[in-house]
Amino acid sequence: MQKLKDKIRQEGIVLSDQVLKVDSFLNHRIDPALMKEIGQAFARRFSGVRVDLVLTLESSGIAPALMTALELQVPLVFARKQKSLTMKDDLYVETVYSFTKQQESQVAVSRRFLESGTNVLIIDDFLAHGEAAFGMARIVEAAGARTVGIGIVIEKSFQNGYAKLAEAGYRVESLARIASLENGDVRFAD
Ligand code: 5GP
Repeated sequence: MQKLKDKIRQEGIVLSDQVLKVDSFLNHRIDPALMKEIGQAFARRFSGVRVDLVLTLESSGIAPALMTALELQVPLVFARKQKSLTMKDDLYVETVYSFTKQQESQVAVSRRFLESGTNVLIIDDFLAHGEAAFGMARIVEAAGARTVGIGIVIEKSFQNGYAKLAEAGYRVESLARIASLENGDVRFAD
């Protein structure tokens, strides 16, 4: 998606060889017009697939996921991150290792909002090692629902998340694919 790549070039801050900061339009301040186009792009890419629900992880996944759900005219559910959970009976809970925070956290979705048989499209802001996406996919599986696709706004193709998800049989569509962040420079894969 050219507009997204332009925005990353103009406003992305390379924090290290591994981490890109995009808090001016995605992770802190949000560009609604760009989010709308991102939602349209995901809807186009998954147009051949029946989607009943969009699932993401709070908080940075919510903006692109919401616009995708709006475009597909389906509900959005965001998994909540929780430090420790005492009442788990009504929740699907998975442990996810956070790449940016370098710590594990529990992510939870209410059983009420994820019924068995649901076709789920997972959306997230970044793909690094696939921990967040796999965590959400495990929740979908635990509910007896089906992950029909994974939409990623920014894939860091030099990390192994894409390969792991593809190997596990998931269809992954990324709107911008970054080949390298070396020397403070964003190099796109395509
Ligand atoms: P993964 O779970 O695939 O290892 O990492 C993806 C998650 O970590 C995303 O949900 C995102 O919030 C965060 N993340 C990973 N890499 C980056 C990055 O380079 N920049 C930002 N802002 N977030 C990242």
